[in-house]
Amino acid sequence: MKSPRMLRLSLATTLSVALMATLMPLAPASATPSIAAPSEISTQALSVDSAVHIAARKIQRDPSRTDVFVNKSYPLSPKKYAPKTVAVPGTNVRLKSSASSAYTTMVKAAAKDGVKIRAVSGYRSYARQAELYNYYTRIYGQSYASKISAVPGTSEHQTGLAIDVGNNNSACGLQACFADTPVGRWVAKNAHKYGFILRYPKGQESITGYSYEPWHFRYLGTSLAKSYKNSGAKTLEAYYGVAGSKSTTPPSKSAKGTAKTSANLNMRSGAGTGNRILLTIPNGKTVKLTGSKNSGWYQVQYSSKTGWVSGKYLKNISMPSNTSKDTPKKDDSKTIKAKSAKTTENLNMRSGNGTNHRIILTIPKGKKVSVTGSKKSGWYPVKYAGKNGWASGKYLR
Ligand SMILES: [Zn+2]
Repeated sequence: MKSPRMLRLSLATTLSVALMATLMPLAPASATPSIAAPSEISTQALSVDSAVHIAARKIQRDPSRTDVFVNKSYPLSPKKYAPKTVAVPGTNVRLKSSASSAYTTMVKAAAKDGVKIRAVSGYRSYARQAELYNYYTRIYGQSYASKISAVPGTSEHQTGLAIDVGNNNSACGLQACFADTPVGRWVAKNAHKYGFILRYPKGQESITGYSYEPWHFRYLGTSLAKSYKNSGAKTLEAYYGVAGSKSTTPPSKSAKGTAKTSANLNMRSGAGTGNRILLTIPNGKTVKLTGSKNSGWYQVQYSSKTGWVSGKYLKNISMPSNTSKDTPKKDDSKTIKAKSAKTTENLNMRSGNGTNHRIILTIPKGKKVSVTGSKKSGWYPVKYAGKNGWASGKYLR
């Protein structure tokens, strides 16, 4: 029995490892060579309208089956399903016994090629997934958390059929660069022979709903894995002819200088609830943004009136492009004086000014960071989510 304190500590350790690892820039995406023309075509047809053009294969929902299909739109049922699992020999990772045997066979085959695969994470219970998901949500907010972590009841890890693998020296552990490590290359090429498929491929994020995860493999059994591979489908979603995840569909493009109300919203004479109400804008209306913003409030025009509304109840906010009044010009020294910057990609914060330093955490794209000092060989000292570290100036604006 672990005391609560021990539990907390071990969780924190696991989390920090997962955390520094889970998020990596999707971009700059080197163009992935297309495998074969036919698969290109079928995938494109799918993305247009999978339901109509593809004779859908039967989707297995029984979580006890090896071919169970699980994603954001197809949660486990029952959602707290717990399989019988075994410890993968020589590890403390647990899987269903079928997946564990297949994994062990794969590890032996890789070893013959001089590649040592390490099991990083296997079965996760509903409760454990809930801890992880809540943790990410606290740090990154729900929208980003859902791209890197499954909502409890929707994780393939809960089936006991998914495993995250790594190198023995943890190189690029749970990071996109894992793909270019010995284990990453080996499993990409060979895992299907043992019944495992790479579940969240690069370039398919909008279909799978997850960031590229070259380490996450799903056991399907050898015959289904073979059928999947031969189909040329790039995702299990495409293979089954089901639509991609709705939750990552980018918000519909809004015109510059507009936003939409997400509630009946008071327009006030100034930025703050202490100001007089001019009118109430109904929920779902489009308002015009003047470009002025003040502590979370936006100046808007609606129904020929101009006033201020709380940004909390605005969505699809698209500031007008002429909002340059107090935006720093593209001059490095000024950016520093502004004492804050925005990330232009998912960006690693490191312990020093260079990629040879340890990753502390990854700051999601589009987040504001505080710049705490001056630039050193292209890197800035920054603060984000209560942590201090260094970030490359290339991805700061
Ligand atoms: Zn995984």
